[in-house]
Amino acid sequence: MIAGADLAIEVTQLHKRYGEVEAVTGVDLSVASGEVVAFLGPNGAGKTTTVEILEGLRTRTSGDVRVLGVDPAAATAAWKERIGVVLQGARHEGDFTAAEIVTMWSAYYRSPRPVAEVLELVGLGDAAGTRTRRLSGGQQQRLAVALALVGDPELVFLDEPTTGFDPAARREAWETIGGLRSLGVTVMLTTHYMDEADHLADRIVVISRGQIVADGTAAELARHVAMPTRISWDAAQLGHDELPEGLRELLDTGASSGSASPSETSVPVPAGPVIATQDVDGVVRQLLAAADSAGTRLDSLAVRPPTLEDTYLALTGEGSAGADSTGVAP
Ligand code: ATP
Repeated sequence: MIAGADLAIEVTQLHKRYGEVEAVTGVDLSVASGEVVAFLGPNGAGKTTTVEILEGLRTRTSGDVRVLGVDPAAATAAWKERIGVVLQGARHEGDFTAAEIVTMWSAYYRSPRPVAEVLELVGLGDAAGTRTRRLSGGQQQRLAVALALVGDPELVFLDEPTTGFDPAARREAWETIGGLRSLGVTVMLTTHYMDEADHLADRIVVISRGQIVADGTAAELARHVAMPTRISWDAAQLGHDELPEGLRELLDTGASSGSASPSETSVPVPAGPVIATQDVDGVVRQLLAAADSAGTRLDSLAVRPPTLEDTYLALTGEGSAGADSTGVAP
C-alpha cells in the first residue's frame, strides 16, 4: 500500500451490483500522484465499471472513493477539469484539422495548454493542418490523447488505447503515452495486454471477477505465480530411452505441447519432449550429460521462460496453471 497524503486515487472496499450481477466485489486500490498504473483483466472482469466510477460516470453500490481528494459521485465542474479521459476507439472523421479540433476543445477549459504545445507533445506537430478524416489509426489515437491533455489535467484515464492497432500504430501510441510520464501526469491505463502494461506502467493491477487478484510490477507478478520454464529438444537427437531415470519422470506428456497461449506475445511450444521446471540449470546439465553419454549433440535444445501472457493467464485463472487469489504484495 502507498502511504502518505499524495494519492491521486484511493478506493476502499468498492462494490458495484447491477441487479443480480456483482460486477465489483470489494476493490481496494491506491494510486500515487505521478504514477502510471495499468488496470488489466479479462472481458467482464469489472475494469470499465471501476474506472467509470472513478471518472464519476457511474454510481457505486458501496465503498469509499477519492479521486484527486474528491468523491467522484459529488464531482464539480472544477474537478472534471483536473481529469482527462481518452475513450476507446474515439475517432474524429470531420473536415476540421487536428489543430482546429484541439482549439475548439480547449475552449471548454479555463486554463488550457497552448494547442501547438499539445500537438507537439503527442507527436502530431507535423499533422496539425491535416483534416481529421485523413489521420491514420495511430494518429487518431494521438489526437484523442491531445484532447485529453489540452485541459492540463493532473490525472488521465486511458481506456484500451491500442485495441485494434497494428504493431506500428501500437508502438506510436506507446511513445505518446510514455511521454505523459515526463509531464508528471498520473495515468490509469486500462488494457487487455500484459506486454502493454509491462511496457508503460510502473505497476500492474489485475482484476478478475470483480476482485483485485494481483498488484505489482510484471516481475513481481511473474514471481508470484512461479510459472515453470519449458525445456524442449528433438527426440531424434536424444530419445526417451537415453534419458536418466530422474529426467524421464519429469517429462511433460501431452499437456505441455498444447499449452501455448493464443497470445501474439507467446512463443509457440515446439513439438517433442518437454520438461517444465524451475531448475533450468540442473535439467539442462543432465540433458547435456545424457547427450554426451549417447554420443550425440543437442543442437535442438530450447529453453523457454514463461511469457508475461502466461503469467497473466495464470493470475486470472484462464491459463493451464492456476494461481491463488491472495494477490502480490507490492
Ligand atoms: P471488458 O473488457 O469486456 O470491457 P470489463 O472488465 O470492463 O470488461 P465491465 O464492463 O465492468 O467489465 O463488466 C463487469 C460485469 O458487469 C460484467 O458481467 C458485465 O456484463 C456487467 N455489466 C457491466 N455494465 C452493466 C450494466 N450497465 N448493466 C448490467 N450489467 C452490467
